[in-house]
Amino acid sequence: MLSLSVLIDEAARSFPDKTAIVCGDTRLTFRELQSRCHQLANGLIAAGLRPGDRVALSCPNVPWFPLAYFAIIKAGCTVVPLNILLNADEVAYHLEDSAAKAYIAFEGSEDVPIGRTAVDAFRKAQDCKHLWLIESGQTLVSDAIGSDGIASHTSLMEASNELPHVDSEATDTVVILYTSGTTGKPKGAELTHANILLNAIMFGRLSEAVADDRQLITLPLFHTFGQTVQMCGSLLNGNTMVLVPRFDPKAVVDLMIAEKITVFCGVPTMYWALLNGVDITPEQVEKIRGHLRLCGSGGSSLPLEVLKGFEEKFDVPILEGYGLSETSPVACFNLLSHPRKPGSVGLPIWGVEVKILNDANEAMPVNEHGEICIRGHNVMKGYLNKPDATAKALKNGWFHTGDVGYIDEEGYIFIVDRLKDMIIRGGYNVYPREIEEVLLTHPAISLAAVIGVPDTQYGEEVKACVILKDGQTASTEELVAWSKAHMAGHKYPRQFDIRDTLPMTATGKILKRKLLAELES
Ligand code: AMP
Repeated sequence: MLSLSVLIDEAARSFPDKTAIVCGDTRLTFRELQSRCHQLANGLIAAGLRPGDRVALSCPNVPWFPLAYFAIIKAGCTVVPLNILLNADEVAYHLEDSAAKAYIAFEGSEDVPIGRTAVDAFRKAQDCKHLWLIESGQTLVSDAIGSDGIASHTSLMEASNELPHVDSEATDTVVILYTSGTTGKPKGAELTHANILLNAIMFGRLSEAVADDRQLITLPLFHTFGQTVQMCGSLLNGNTMVLVPRFDPKAVVDLMIAEKITVFCGVPTMYWALLNGVDITPEQVEKIRGHLRLCGSGGSSLPLEVLKGFEEKFDVPILEGYGLSETSPVACFNLLSHPRKPGSVGLPIWGVEVKILNDANEAMPVNEHGEICIRGHNVMKGYLNKPDATAKALKNGWFHTGDVGYIDEEGYIFIVDRLKDMIIRGGYNVYPREIEEVLLTHPAISLAAVIGVPDTQYGEEVKACVILKDGQTASTEELVAWSKAHMAGHKYPRQFDIRDTLPMTATGKILKRKLLAELES
């Protein structure tokens, strides 16, 4: 038997009085984190949740995220972390698809009204029996909303620290992470205790983590990168986690100095913003250099000039890695102990194999392009309740990533393209098909093609090329405003091109590469 919650127990045993979490004015020790986890887990059990039940969680990077995440696991349930930017319809889809019995949501802010969205979504999802809203502040008391929709204002935290024993196997699903994979609607990747634990251990080992490390965590914890690599990794190594609910380069600089940060992980957009989007004095740079020893990047390609600029300015290596939600996430990583190759995402981590296949599923020779396929302890069990999608993604134990790349003669992996229809905007994956489906519900739009166009700050920006229905009119501004109201903030197209035609195949498939080429010319 093995549970991911061993991370909380071991950290509390080895470092009871050390600061586990810093967030604004809140500081929690590992012992306090463990005891609050137990109180919340007891509350979940008292509310009727049973091992194997699924509990959705919408929470920014505040102490409540690790607390609720591990309380759900300690109650023997499966966590379904949700992107906090989703709108009510999107959340309701996730609640229904995962058959979540309960939903825990942070109240949020005016800008990101997670609580309001949660209430709307909960009312749409018939089978979800409980919604618990977390109040911010120091009280750590939650309001409960029953299935009748009435706030009962009872605390979910039980006084008892004693937990009933819950058995779990290493191969049980512990987290369901929603991702669209190579196509279509979001699907729940089932990750096991062993998947996540081994990935956190590997990353800690390969990045030469030490107990004195202090990690700044501004990557969203609902995403696999922040969740496994930084949150689980910090607990494993007894590192203090400095949680930043919203990425803001100035706040990150101030916190790096004030909290003597040694490890930072980010998506390329964050490194770009720290180089170009904030004024930093030479004294501040010196102070950051005094502590920062390692940075990690992933999620999309890190441009070489950003890598070089950042490394030179802060005198710190940025190790780029590659992975996916389905691979828990790290599959390849540039090691501290090996030479790095510019543009490469490094070598497969221990116990993980990578091969490149062509369309006929034949292995490609070195330096030849094909689909990157991954096998090992990090690969998910499959997509929840989607046997067809699982069979397509997992063939003979090899996970087909939908990314195109090659392996050089020394085994280094390079990513060159994506087979899958996906845009990565500021580290967030955006799936054109999902957006096109929403756009087609607009009364004036008859056809839509969504593509990613290059953007210096976000890597890619979402652009919609649309054809209007006969006799209908709409301005690009109206279409942007409509999209903003109907889609999550990271997804909606900020650029529209209203056209008379779109390049298509004889079977009516829109030729996106041709469209991109047309836009570039
Ligand atoms: P996600 O499931 O959200 O983690 O997204 C996984 C996708 O992000 C991969 O399939 C890649 O397309 C992309 N990705 C992750 N890391 C890198 C990287 N270092 N370079 C280029 N693309 C990456």
